Amino acid sequence: MYRRTGNAVASDFMAYPDETPKPAPEPAPEPALEDLLEEARRAAIHSYSPYSGFRVGAALRLTSGETVTGTNVENVSYGLTICAERAALVQAVSRFGPAIRIEAVAVANLNDAPSPPCGACRQVLTEFILPDAAVIFPAEGGVRVMPFRELLPLAFDMKLVSGVRNSSHK
Ligand code: ZN
Repeated sequence: MYRRTGNAVASDFMAYPDETPKPAPEPAPEPALEDLLEEARRAAIHSYSPYSGFRVGAALRLTSGETVTGTNVENVSYGLTICAERAALVQAVSRFGPAIRIEAVAVANLNDAPSPPCGACRQVLTEFILPDAAVIFPAEGGVRVMPFRELLPLAFDMKLVSGVRNSSHK
């Protein structure tokens, strides 16, 4: 007959993690994020925004350590305007290929206005960004840092639609 030892039970019990709820602190952005924000500000200087005057820059930090920036490029037809975040993403893929992964995003503008990434940019970023990537942007009341998964919960994903996406497509 098998008999379990007392020690095994004790060690099983001790294996459970501490589930004490921890307070959610609002820490100051890490220095690396502040640097990324500064890169985004510098990118905004190149903004082409003659219609709105809203000068935006974005900086993406890739898991490879590279930083890629972009700025908004407006168009007289308005709807064709490209945001800074998408401009940066397109440049990142163009330079480093489709295997890039984004581990942090900074958005800044030269208008002292709140500018979280728009819905379209969140959906486009979701193809390449890590769910826990920090996103830093000007918000009401100051600069805010959020994990990407909180900025875009329930992103559209073809993988959720059975049989639609070819499994060999990466
Ligand atoms: Zn956008």
